[in-house]
Amino acid sequence: MVTDWICTTFVAISISDNQVDSVKPNPEQMYLISSCLVGINCRYNGTSTNIANLKKMVETGKAIALCPEVMVGLPTPRESCEIKKNPKKVVISESGVDFTEYFVKGAEETLRICREKNITKAILQSRSPSCGYGKIYDGNFRGKLVKGNGITADLLNKNGIEITTEDEWLNK
Ligand code: SF4
Repeated sequence: MVTDWICTTFVAISISDNQVDSVKPNPEQMYLISSCLVGINCRYNGTSTNIANLKKMVETGKAIALCPEVMVGLPTPRESCEIKKNPKKVVISESGVDFTEYFVKGAEETLRICREKNITKAILQSRSPSCGYGKIYDGNFRGKLVKGNGITADLLNKNGIEITTEDEWLNK
């Protein structure tokens, strides 16, 4: 089943890269964190950042880390994608491939996991076509930001999950 496969992928990412699932979650204080903020190399270009206090939250069971894109089977490294209004919202790679279906599936699965784990707050990577919140790239691959949310951030936000970007978190 697709769901079983997705869950297996989610666990595999966590355990193999960071042992994040080895800590029992505390449902009362659960956050979701973009995996690429805690040292998991899941960005399109195979990189990550490692923000010590966010990683600590994962290690102490106050958060889970996941990547909506890798969770649904997109490889790392992968092509860079941006959201374009065409006129419908689509996620397009730099070479013009439509990845919208993957990004929507990743968002839905992320929401399902948040609900299952009583997660009401998320700390997400800025500007990403999945995790970006408030500002994203304009869809023309020229580094220009516009108002908007990534596909996952938008779905979480519409379902009552409070989102903070890592930029906001670091500047608190
Ligand atoms: S920003 Fe989100 S989708 Fe992109 S690599 Fe990080 S966790 Fe994955």
